[in-house]
Amino acid sequence: MREFSRRNILAATAVAGATTAVSAAAKAAQFGNPDRPPEGDVNVKNRQALDEPGPQNRTLTSQFPSMGNPPPTDVNGMAMFWSSFNLAHKRVQDGGWARQVTQADFAISEAVSGVNMRLGPGGVRELHWHQQAEWAVMTDGKCRISVLDGDGRPAVRDVKAGDLWYFPPGLPHSLQGLGPSGAEFVLVFDNGRASEYNTLLLTDWMAHTPPKILAENFNLPVSAFQNNPVDDLWIYQGAEPPPLAQVQREVASPLGEPDLEFTFSTSDMAPTRQTRSGSVKVIDTRNFPISANIAAAVVTIKPGGLRELHWHPTADEWQYWVQGAGRMTVFNTGPAATTADFHPGDIGYVKKGLGHYVENTGSTDIVMIETFKTDRFAEVSLAQWLACSPRQMVAETLRMDPRLIEQISKSRPDIVPA
Ligand code: MN
Ligand code: MN
Repeated sequence: MREFSRRNILAATAVAGATTAVSAAAKAAQFGNPDRPPEGDVNVKNRQALDEPGPQNRTLTSQFPSMGNPPPTDVNGMAMFWSSFNLAHKRVQDGGWARQVTQADFAISEAVSGVNMRLGPGGVRELHWHQQAEWAVMTDGKCRISVLDGDGRPAVRDVKAGDLWYFPPGLPHSLQGLGPSGAEFVLVFDNGRASEYNTLLLTDWMAHTPPKILAENFNLPVSAFQNNPVDDLWIYQGAEPPPLAQVQREVASPLGEPDLEFTFSTSDMAPTRQTRSGSVKVIDTRNFPISANIAAAVVTIKPGGLRELHWHPTADEWQYWVQGAGRMTVFNTGPAATTADFHPGDIGYVKKGLGHYVENTGSTDIVMIETFKTDRFAEVSLAQWLACSPRQMVAETLRMDPRLIEQISKSRPDIVPA
């Protein structure tokens, strides 16, 4: 019945649509409807051609209106730049879970891979290390991190929602969810092929080293290791940890603490740029010096706001959508332009140098985290470039009145309307 009613609505829409289609089709290959041959729903005169009589998963397709009905300015030919933790398989163990989107699942994601992890109160991500750098953002709760730097100096810190951490490649570390609600966070590895299920684990190395060697190495009797687990733990349910200050005293080394801080609080940071439509906070080696391989921006876009037309000259962009709903259009050579819809938990990926913009299509703020495999965030604004290019040339190229070109701001608002 519901489906039948929906069809009636579609039929009614089709009649209304047919009227606009005639006038739109007459404007084919004009500005706003540029393709030859014309692409997009506005160019379809017989509305029956738009039907989708074949099998459908309406729940799934309803999430992707811009894929199902692209704007007429979209033109085909681009690798998929949308993915999501929402459809990633979870590995669940006592203590927490993780799911990931690596290049194996998301071909475009060459520079970085992403992991979404949950540790309940006391849940531990086992002591481990890996060849890749690990950048992280806390999305919920509290977590305790421990790390040893390359000069043998330890650090233990507690982080909360909105905080970041960064472990340079190869440095050993642990994570533990704290009470009362545990922790959830997103990790970014600086290699698209890196997997959370393929790290160097303490338990694995101990179990695969002869006990005699262990005894010699640690100057302990062989019997000291007799209860070491035979299988790795990866994530396990631990006891509630002692207070932070106590643990910091326990691990304190005569060598002192690392020179660089491993954590960063985005909530304590003033926006790098703010307008009436949103804000951008840039976190890179200029304010978070340890983060040599990953730069980030925390972007807020208010309803009706637009993350302006821009690109990043030095690195691919990996986006994690924290809240809100929006759509992003990516522009490539060809020309190619593709629009995709994003929701919380989704991932967007834009190759280095490709133009893009993000519209807030919902009624709440978008919060989106952009990460880049680089030490310094860099961005080119289309508007700023035009405002700072020879005016006559811009006017000639775009066949626009030079007095209008002059009105384009030389500053870079990032989020418009400014
Ligand atoms: Mn790790
Ligand atoms: Mn961008």
